[in-house]
Amino acid sequence: MSTLKVYNSYTRQKEEFESLVPGYAGMYVCGPTVSGESHLGHARPFITFDVVYRYLMHLGYKVRYVRNITDAGHFEEEGREAEDKISAKAQIEKLEPMELVQKYTNLFHWAMKQFNNLDPSIEPTATGHIVEQIEMIKTIIDAGYAYERNGSVYFNVVKYAEQFPYGKLSGRVMDDLLETSRELEGQEEKNNKQDFALWKAAPPEHIMRWNSPWGEGFPGWHIECSAMATKYLGKQFDIHGGGMDLQFPHHESEIAQSTICNHHVPARYWLHNNMITINGRKMGKSYNNVIKLTELFSGSHPLLEQSYHPMTVRFFILQTHYRSTLDFGNEALQAAQKGMRRLWEAYDVLGKLIAGANVAADAELDARCNKLVDEFDEFMNDDLNTAKVLASMFELVPVINGIKDKHISAEALSTATIEKMRKAFKAYLEDIFGLQDEQAAGGDNGKLDGVLQLLIDIRKEAKSKKDFATSDKIRNQLQELGVILKDEKDGSISVSFA
Ligand code: ZN
Repeated sequence: MSTLKVYNSYTRQKEEFESLVPGYAGMYVCGPTVSGESHLGHARPFITFDVVYRYLMHLGYKVRYVRNITDAGHFEEEGREAEDKISAKAQIEKLEPMELVQKYTNLFHWAMKQFNNLDPSIEPTATGHIVEQIEMIKTIIDAGYAYERNGSVYFNVVKYAEQFPYGKLSGRVMDDLLETSRELEGQEEKNNKQDFALWKAAPPEHIMRWNSPWGEGFPGWHIECSAMATKYLGKQFDIHGGGMDLQFPHHESEIAQSTICNHHVPARYWLHNNMITINGRKMGKSYNNVIKLTELFSGSHPLLEQSYHPMTVRFFILQTHYRSTLDFGNEALQAAQKGMRRLWEAYDVLGKLIAGANVAADAELDARCNKLVDEFDEFMNDDLNTAKVLASMFELVPVINGIKDKHISAEALSTATIEKMRKAFKAYLEDIFGLQDEQAAGGDNGKLDGVLQLLIDIRKEAKSKKDFATSDKIRNQLQELGVILKDEKDGSISVSFA
């Protein structure tokens, strides 16, 4: 079997994955900023790295997967949003900042469960690691790569770049940085325009603030990931993941901080998923196309023709290689929904198929099926190509259905081949891709509908026999459960849910 190769954004090539400690793998993925509701843009990185996590475990690694929660204010696009997002929103909604953080953290966790993403091994919060961040900043100052100005501390990018390859990950050069950082907040107190904040002095109205050797303030965004990754994964670890939009300035800054503190580029493999566009357009507030996950699942955004099951979204995302752009639209999602149904039906047939012979009657077909199944691993090992694995699965569907419909003889394939297909479908669909049959999961609802109809029928019978005690009991108890029955004038019964 081939070995896993991943595309390393840092070296810009596919490399064989070799963990630092044999049998163990450490992975850090930048988590959400919990100052607002998660949207579609958050679905892709967390589903992508959930599959990476699952695949590493499938390969036998004991994985420590660390995904942080950014709950301290930061400058998302440094300078462009001059205020701390979390405390600004908290004042508008008149909430305690941590109450807001909790609310959006809960919502995020709920959405991750809908997608069937596994919990990370550790989910550290920025506010829970202020001490570690302060220690790291002190080390950078002592090393001569950061300086204090009016209670804020800045990383000296110009000095760093004289000795280290700043910009290697993102491909940005110093001139670019000058260009993009011209208007930034706090510019006047920095030594160089390219420098970034490690610690910010808190203005009086700022709610989230901590004591530090430089006065009351709050950490810059980049330092939290460096501090938490170091604490839980060590000075060097295997994989650092996130969306491509985080390469600069976030990951570039993480690399600089860790290089000074820990004398290492923190991760050996940098994996970045590409972005989602919507109907060909970049997602953005100005386009009015930022679809919240709650809107996606309920179909309540104007761009959506219907609601989409979280599993449809997951399947849709996995149908494209994680490094390609992914265009989101109703048609594409509806096609994904149909495609996934076909696969589940085939999977179901495969589970019940009593077929096969000791020696396959159709050796050529048998060999082709074997080859397609073997390709699952080949494609995954080739930079996690979930899209190609699904394509190979789809090629097997007509064979599976053919045996069911008896177009293909039950003896055409060997029992061993059918068993191999069964195992591979289970491993990939359920364990590695983390998909769940959305209709099987909804089967309970079908049963409940039946139970409700039964109660309505019993009540009708009771009423016709003038047994009002029973009919009222059914109506009242259902009402307590939030199911409201209403007798219409024409004798029919309408049902509504409170
Ligand atoms: Zn991060």
